[in-house]
Formats: sequence, structure tokens, C-alpha cells
Amino acid sequence: MTDPIHHHVIVLGAGVSGIYQIHRLVELGLDAIVLEADEDLGGTWYRNRYPGCRFDSESYTYGYSFSREVLDEWHWKERFSSQPENLRYLNFVADKFDLRRHMRFDSRVEAMRWDDDLRLWTLDVAGGRRYTARFVISAIGVLSTPTLPRYQGMEEFEGDAFHTYWWPKQEVPLEGRRVGVIGTGATGIQVIAEIASQVDQLFVFQRRPNWSTPLNNSPISEQEMAEIRARYDEIFATCAISNGGFEHLPDRRGFWNVTPEQRRALWDELYATPGFAILARNFPEIYLDEEANREISEYVAERIRGRVHDPEIAEKLIPKDHGFGTQRLPLETRYFEAYNRGNVHLVDLSETPIERITRSGIQTTAAHHDLDLIVYATGFDAITGAWDRIDIHGAGGAVLAEKWRDGPSTFFGLMTRRFPNLLMVAGPQSVSGSTNFPRAIEGGVDWVTRFLEHAIEHGVTRFEAHAEAEREWTEEVVRRHEKLLARRSRGWFTGYNSNVAGHGEGSVRYVAYFGGAPKYAELIRLEAESGYPGVDLE
Ligand code: NAP
Repeated sequence: MTDPIHHHVIVLGAGVSGIYQIHRLVELGLDAIVLEADEDLGGTWYRNRYPGCRFDSESYTYGYSFSREVLDEWHWKERFSSQPENLRYLNFVADKFDLRRHMRFDSRVEAMRWDDDLRLWTLDVAGGRRYTARFVISAIGVLSTPTLPRYQGMEEFEGDAFHTYWWPKQEVPLEGRRVGVIGTGATGIQVIAEIASQVDQLFVFQRRPNWSTPLNNSPISEQEMAEIRARYDEIFATCAISNGGFEHLPDRRGFWNVTPEQRRALWDELYATPGFAILARNFPEIYLDEEANREISEYVAERIRGRVHDPEIAEKLIPKDHGFGTQRLPLETRYFEAYNRGNVHLVDLSETPIERITRSGIQTTAAHHDLDLIVYATGFDAITGAWDRIDIHGAGGAVLAEKWRDGPSTFFGLMTRRFPNLLMVAGPQSVSGSTNFPRAIEGGVDWVTRFLEHAIEHGVTRFEAHAEAEREWTEEVVRRHEKLLARRSRGWFTGYNSNVAGHGEGSVRYVAYFGGAPKYAELIRLEAESGYPGVDLE
């Protein structure tokens, strides 16, 4: 172990949040670096290279809003831009502001320890380097810890097999191959639709179906991009008053004040509208009222029946255990039509579960499926997973993984008590997990930066959230969660993951704030303007 390298501020992660965060710190002239586990920047958009991977937020609402120059110079080529282009965009921004020189790659932080006497964090990086910092800002992402199932025999499989998050950089041959995809979340749905026509045979191993509606993607011409540029202020202003951070606002006529025909007319329009309009422009009652939710669910089910030729397959693709919009909605491009192809086979794991992975494929209780490639589209240990993989010791012997064992508790998702001088961008219980991510994280980064500026200006060497403030915020997160029909769903929004011990059936983890982005922005703004009453500043 060599001598520790000291910086005043250390940011963890060079993804969408970390890139903007380091830009703000450098602008302030602070001595700050980013430690990034991967060999390059980009986070989510560096890692997820699977076929079909793309935004499902409108590209021009996903991009950063902080720089007029970036807005003027960047041309989004598609309404929902694909992963290679998104990674190019993040590199463009990083290069434009010369941010790479503040980034240290191949630097996975494995442990962090707070020293209350020196008021310093010590960070241990895999491979033996050690850093110290007065302040740490984590930007480690909400979906950055992929999880594999725990089937017997996985290591025996002799073909190719990987999680979608680890899709290799080099081209993976698909033509002429027999491919199995396990998982039908947003990722599985993108992969399946994309590769169905490329592979010889495709077996989809579905445990539970998901609701899914059309993405309605299209190219963006030079002229359209010029129009978007001229509307950027208006677009971001709309995103700022939308609960999900989108350019779509809800229908406030009242679900029960209009006729079923009027509701249907709206849904016909929304089904054909790009992106999350079907969620965000819908009647808010569909998230709160069982009857309203049943009606929209039946509408979407009918659309699925209209697209899948085999009625039995169509029924298997329609969720029966949760209503429309109560789990994160995957958006699709001809996903349902894939099941009309002769080479695509739906294996319903609720009827015939996987028994084991074999040397040559997947054995269910009904049959053996010979495969050349197994794609695990099995999701993430969401929101708290990346935290649990760092051994974090705070003040007075507190250990973060223990504090959050039964679920996180935080102050606005920005700090957590007993872990002084640690700020979180897109932390658990913030609004980032439940919104158009960059819209929320820009607000988070701006808040964190302003807070640090305040702390440094006032000679603060130690800060920590008040116990009462943290308790109140966590209770508010629970209250918001309990109002939604989504409270009963089994998706990552509610902390569910059957592949992580303690996060499966029966566990309830309040990991995200569901009060909407505008409310959250207002609350954190008030906290700052009142001089941070929820935080002890020493
Ligand atoms: P996910 O939504 O958690 O889906 C995981 C899938 O794997 C589910 O269908 C799940 O089934 C299945 N699964 C998990 N463990 C299994 C097991 N042991 N056996 C069989 N099936 C198993 O994960 P994801 O699809 O990667 O999506 C995660 C999030 O990433 C999305 O919700 C979204 O926020 C983000 N994402 C965004 C985009 C985009 O912006 N364009 C694209 C992709 C992903 P159960 O439902 O039964 O648990």
C-alpha cells in the first residue's frame, strides 16, 4: 500500500450523474476527481451494449440541459436514441469540458472508512490504491449492480452466456444460433424484439409477463432538430412540472368525469404517441384507483390480443398479477409481433419452471432446450445494490450495509445519518429512480454543489443529517409509496429482486420517492433556502 492520495472532494462514478457533478466541481475550482470502476466513462451507457438497447425517454429530454452550447451543437438522430449514440454523447460532453483528466478509471472503490478525528474519508480501491477526501459524493447509479439467477449448473453451460449488462464489446454472432433469453423486463423486451429476426431459434423464458406499449421511435431530421433546439427552454420547463420529468402532462379532466368512449379515444391516441405518453398523459386515477386501473389494463390487454396471432400465447403475454403502470413500463418496438414468427418460442416458467442449466442448454420441468447462447436479462439489485457492495464504515462504528439491511433511510436521498460528509446523487429515496433520470439528477447535482459551496464558504469540516430530519423524510417516502397501487407490485421500484437474499417475496423496501419530481425539487430547494435546518454543520 502506497501513501494515500488526497483530494478535497472525490466523486464515485463517471456515468450520467458523475460527469455533470465533476463538471460543476471543476467550475468551482475545487480539487476534485472521479473514481470510476470501469475502464472508461459512461456508466449505464458504457456497460449495456446489448442489441436493441436505447432510451425510452425522448432523447432531447434525456440530454443535459445545463449547457446551451451542448444543446446547440448536439444533433439527436432518433427520438429514442440507441446506446452507441448515447455513449458518444456522454463522451462529447466530457471532452467538450475537458473532464477526462479529472477521472481515474479502473478504480473500483471497495471500502470507505470515516475518521472522525481527522474528519476525512479513506477510500480503498481494488488493486491497492488508497485515497483520502474531506467530502465524498457518490454517483454510483441506481441500476449498476446486475443480478444473475441462481440456477443449478449455470457454470457448466458450454455455449456463450452473459448478463445483458455485461454484453461483450466484441460482436456476438447471432445468425444461425439457438438463443435463450431469460427475463422479460425492459431489457429482455428490447433484446427479444431486436434479435428475433437475426437468430435461428429464440426461446424466451418468461417467469411473469410485463405490460408493454409501443415506443413509436422515429428519426430526427436536421430541420426537426432545429425546431427542437428552438423549443428547448419550453421542453425543459414542461419536464420540470411533470411528475416523471417528461414532456408529457397528465389529463386532468378526471377519469370518472368523462365517458368510457372518451377514455378510449384518449388511450387510442396515447397508444400511438411516442414514449411514456401513455403513462404520463393519462388520467392520474389509473395509479390510485383499482377500478380505473382495471379499465386501462383491459384496454392494453386488448391491444396485445390484437397483435399476437395465437390467442393462447397472447394470454400468456398479458400480466394477470399486476395492473398496467404499477411496475416500470417497458416500451417496445414490434415486441408482440416477434411471437408471430415461427422461430420464436415462449416458454412459460409459471407452468414449466427451469430445473437447471445443463452443458448444452436449459432444462425445464417439461423439456430440454438446446442452446448456443444464454442471455440473462434478469435485472439488477436496484438502488441500494451498488452501496451494499462497498464496505462503508461511518461514525461511531456504523456500517452502511447494516443500517440499510431492511431498507434504506436517508435525508432526501441526499445524505444518510452516521455517514458524515457523504453526499449522494441519485441516492436511495431520492426522486431519481422514479423519473426521467437526467432531469432529476441535474437537480440533485445542483443541490449537492450548492450545499458544498455553502459548507466550504462557512468553513464546515463535518456535516451530518439530523436524526429527526431523516426519520421524517423516510416516513414521507413510505407515505407516498403506500398511496400507489404500485405498492403491491414486485418490481425493482419497490425493491423486489428474487435473486438477492432478503429482497424477494414478502420483503418491502422503500427505495424511491414517489411524490413526483416537482414536489421533490420544491422540498430540497426550501431546505437549501432555509440554510439547511435538517443538517448539523460543524
Ligand atoms: P427487470 O425489470 O428487473 O426484469 C428482470 C426480468 O428477469 C423479469 O422479467 C424477471 O421476472 C426476470 N427474472 C429475474 N430473475 C429470474 C429468475 N431467477 N428466473 C427467471 N426469470 C427471472 O430488469 P431489466 O429488464 O434489466 O430492467 C431494469 C430497469 O432498467 C428497467 O425497469 C428500466 O428502468 C431500466 N431499463 C431502461 C431501459 C431504457 O431506458 N430504455 C432499457 C432497459 C432497462 P419477474 O418479473 O418474475 O421478477
